[in-house]
Amino acid sequence: MASKIFNPKAKILANADRVLDFFEYGVAAPILVEIDPSNACNHGCYFCISSYIHLPESVDLKTFDRSIMTRNVLLDVCRDLIDLNTRAINWTGGGEPTINPALKEAIEFVGETSDIKMGIFTNGTLLDKYDLFDTFVDHMTWVRFSVDAGREETYNSVRRVKGGQNWKKMLSNLSKLIKTNNEKGKKIDIGVGFVITPDTYTEIVDFAKVFAEYDVDYCQFKPEIVNREREDGQQREQEFWYNEVEPLLEEAKSILGSKFQINGYKLSDLEEDPDLYGRSYEKCLGSQIQPCVGADGHVYVCTNHRGYEEYSYGSLYEKSFLDIWGNMQKRREVMHRIEEEECFSNCTQLCKPHESNKAMWKLYNEYNESEDKELYKNDLLQLGDIQKKEITHPEFI
Ligand code: SF4
Repeated sequence: MASKIFNPKAKILANADRVLDFFEYGVAAPILVEIDPSNACNHGCYFCISSYIHLPESVDLKTFDRSIMTRNVLLDVCRDLIDLNTRAINWTGGGEPTINPALKEAIEFVGETSDIKMGIFTNGTLLDKYDLFDTFVDHMTWVRFSVDAGREETYNSVRRVKGGQNWKKMLSNLSKLIKTNNEKGKKIDIGVGFVITPDTYTEIVDFAKVFAEYDVDYCQFKPEIVNREREDGQQREQEFWYNEVEPLLEEAKSILGSKFQINGYKLSDLEEDPDLYGRSYEKCLGSQIQPCVGADGHVYVCTNHRGYEEYSYGSLYEKSFLDIWGNMQKRREVMHRIEEEECFSNCTQLCKPHESNKAMWKLYNEYNESEDKELYKNDLLQLGDIQKKEITHPEFI
């Protein structure tokens, strides 16, 4: 089932109706909204993409913030996303989403009152504390545990775990979630993730061996993306990926079979295009259908710019999501800054929407150059219908 989960280009096509709305009217309801219920985290992984927000060593940065979104703001934004006919929500961070005590209520509210699909990235160690097993199985589409190691000692040290929220707890909560899911007829997809770093890559095979024994739907490997706040935002050398990591991934693949998944980051963009890092697009159109709601209440352009007020369209503590999303003047100002003034210089290399940006930019140009727009739209919608049938979780672009 998991063979076509991670395919951003196909997912853009599968949502061609929203994409075309955006091209035609300059505004469209979001397809996916990334929500950070919490900027606080009970772990402290140095390679976290949000390290600059909550790690102890970031305490002097202006972005340091360990907010937990209030229940009212959380539920209000959910109501607005339902009204907007948003297709999917990713509960993410920021920090660890399950730390927010109102998350359970928010998930149940969205699940019971709308068709919005939901997924969550979690370290999984708090699922028992907040009694989330049934809630997840009843309402989510997928749950992914971030593991990032293959051995207990490494997990506990790279994640800087405290108390009992450690490797053993993660495994016992994973087992309980799998059991709950199986008892209810396998309603959701459960995956585990491994961010490959120079400190952990030697455990790729250990990780594969451990999770080959669990009834998970997929094991996803993805390269660490270094954010701009750390090590000057420079990514690891290509040799590291090709010489050190690739052979281990091959071994993991032979152990995991169809459960093996790799995130489609195009690392060759860094090598082949050292100036623009593959940013062949002049506009960041992908962000216009997948914004991020920070735990501080700001609606950000994207997850990579969370924490910076200059990339916020507005605060949910002052206005509703509907008002913020509909304020095109403010949104254009922020995008003008990123695209025209900064020319993407503050953007993370290989940011999450990078591949969808490429796809959107191609379609945007095709649309604008097409002489018969109705014909172009019909063709694209037909292509989208085909993609929708072929890929898994098309809403999660
Ligand atoms: S990092 Fe830059 S290019 Fe990437 S989604 Fe954010 S604004 Fe767009």
